[in-house]
Amino acid sequence: MVHRDQARKSDDRFMLGQCLSEHKATLQRLLASISDGLIIVDSEGRIGYWNQQTEHLLDQPPYLQVGTPVIETLTALAQQTMDANQALIKLEHAMRHLSSFPQKDLDLIRPKLVTLRLQFFPSYDAEQALVSYGIILRDVTEQTSMEKLKAQLLATVAHELRAPLASIKGFATTLLREDVAWDPESQHEFIEIIDEESDRLTTLVDDLFDTSRFVLGHYPLDKEPVDLAKLIHKVAKQAQARTAIHRITTQLPDQETIVQADAHRIQQVLHNLMDNAIKYSPKGGDIILDIAAEPSQFVISISDQGIGIPMEEQPLIFELFYRGKSLEPSEQVGLGLGLSICRGIIEAHGGTIWVNSQRGHGSTFYFTLPNPDPSAA
Ligand code: ADP
Repeated sequence: MVHRDQARKSDDRFMLGQCLSEHKATLQRLLASISDGLIIVDSEGRIGYWNQQTEHLLDQPPYLQVGTPVIETLTALAQQTMDANQALIKLEHAMRHLSSFPQKDLDLIRPKLVTLRLQFFPSYDAEQALVSYGIILRDVTEQTSMEKLKAQLLATVAHELRAPLASIKGFATTLLREDVAWDPESQHEFIEIIDEESDRLTTLVDDLFDTSRFVLGHYPLDKEPVDLAKLIHKVAKQAQARTAIHRITTQLPDQETIVQADAHRIQQVLHNLMDNAIKYSPKGGDIILDIAAEPSQFVISISDQGIGIPMEEQPLIFELFYRGKSLEPSEQVGLGLGLSICRGIIEAHGGTIWVNSQRGHGSTFYFTLPNPDPSAA
């Protein structure tokens, strides 16, 4: 009888064990298939579990190991941001205030900016003692860039459009005053200002319009065969007419440089890059436009001898509304939209855009366009 009882108990234990391991496997399968990352941390702050998506979101981290203090993982993550100290302070604050389910966003500087949201949640036992806590990780890049864009657009419309509008209104009202007879020279000067400010308004509105299309992923292209060398030559000539302190030269290959592209859009990219090369080399110098023919693509570059871009800012400059942190007040013209518009246009053509630069030693911007006739290269 005793023997039979023992056998039944051992059967029950076996069934329970099997049931638990089945539940565990189901749970693990579920956690592996969710799109969010999840890290479980014990009450000592050591990592006990993470799901597959965590590895993807943390970019294959070597510091993700069972038993590793989670603070090491979070420190490594903070180091991927512009201000590691500030990011770490945010995360440590969250870990100290788990009961309020804190949520922290980190802007990670990878080849492209990625916004990762970390949501902390505690787990208590019956006595309300912390037994473990979890961190849910979610890529909210798209969502936050939309939010940032909306906020920035409002701020831009409020601030940037107001100045030229006020100026136009002011000079038009002045000209209309009946109690003053303006001499022709002053009249001409006022009308010139109105004209320049209207141009500034048009550029601003065009940039904002392009930006919203870019964010919506909506770049309708009117592709046709375009002679790159011809286009570059034209842009260089137009730019040279605007500056006396820069020497603008072109280096063009002997072979044909025909691409299938939207000529107007590619010209816009070249103008933006050229304007920046001039704007950010206030002491003048050489600006070189170059086309290199590779088997399947053309690589176009524009190099200047200007102020250059600090290493840590380079991955950020193609982001919407990003403006250099260390720009002098005299260099503070622009909305920080030009390069993101360039990236939108080049990527819509199937190319890529990047920069090589060193603070104080000039910059070279590169972009590629597919070569429709590789045999020619
Ligand atoms: P904006 O010129 O209106 O600020 P952009 O999107 O064209 O906007 O450029 C973003 C930032 O990239 C600039 O604020 C500047 O810091 C940096 N930048 C762009 N081009 C250059 C360049 N040729 N040399 C140095 N810095 C540059």
